[in-house]
Amino acid sequence: MPEPSLPFICRFAPSPNGRLHLGHAFSALVNAEAAARTGGAFLLRMEDIDTTRCRPEFEQGILDDLAWLGIVPAAAPRRQSEHFADYAAALDRLEGMGLIYPAFDSRSDIARAVIESEAKLGRPAPRDPDGAPLFPFPRSALADGARAKRKAEGEPYVLRLDMAAALEAAGAGPLFWPEAEGMPEGPAVAIPADPAQWGDVVLARRDVPTSYHLSVVVDDALQGITRVIRGMDLYHATSVHVLLQRLLGLATPVYHHHRLILDASGHKLSKSNSATSLLALRNCGATPGDVRARLGLDAGQPTPRM
Ligand code: GLU
Repeated sequence: MPEPSLPFICRFAPSPNGRLHLGHAFSALVNAEAAARTGGAFLLRMEDIDTTRCRPEFEQGILDDLAWLGIVPAAAPRRQSEHFADYAAALDRLEGMGLIYPAFDSRSDIARAVIESEAKLGRPAPRDPDGAPLFPFPRSALADGARAKRKAEGEPYVLRLDMAAALEAAGAGPLFWPEAEGMPEGPAVAIPADPAQWGDVVLARRDVPTSYHLSVVVDDALQGITRVIRGMDLYHATSVHVLLQRLLGLATPVYHHHRLILDASGHKLSKSNSATSLLALRNCGATPGDVRARLGLDAGQPTPRM
């Protein structure tokens, strides 16, 4: 696939709901170093749509940790919580196309339906790439008029993408994304997208008027991101992102999904395990060089993926 002749603009997009750990440090360093090698720009985005869990002190902690690592973003961070109007505009557009619908089912309604269908069929219900059961109810289970009435009456709801209708609206052209499989700034190959494996995903939550999938797609476009460099844990989510880009008329950036930093038992690091937080490592006297060495970044090989 030919290299697009676009400026190289990448981003690091943490959620300020805790301190950064070694996995974040790896992602930020891989982004920042690819930007430096290409003469491109490294941008920062605070993914703080969950305003109850995100806090200003964590945002400051992220800025401090990045500065300690020697990373200086090219601009002030974009905060998702300041851009709910952009996500609302995207939802309006999808609603105008008839592709989203309010769903009133609670988590326990969904869990019960999944258990019942598994018992009836004698096999596991279909699951998404993260292992969660697909939304078990078809849109046709409730007439659009009944949905509109319940919504008008103030019943809590999420907005879901009607995946079958969305795939039809996306048209016949193949859905794929360009993936740089070697160096983050390297050439890309086309990866076929398969959004159907996610079912009717949530695009706006009950408590938050957007979702990860929607806001990441809108923001990557609004920030002019041409290269999305992030962990392999989001590889399959890219299928949903490419579909939303097609529906919303947005360009698809080149992606590079880097290897994950795992703990001693092979699990992804989490913010709740403070032992691997950059703050804890700093407090124990670690230097940025020690962190780079621990991440396998000191041999000039930024991101051997396999
Ligand atoms: N906010 C996401 C996270 O912290 C990253 C989103 C992305 O890079 O697309 O895992």
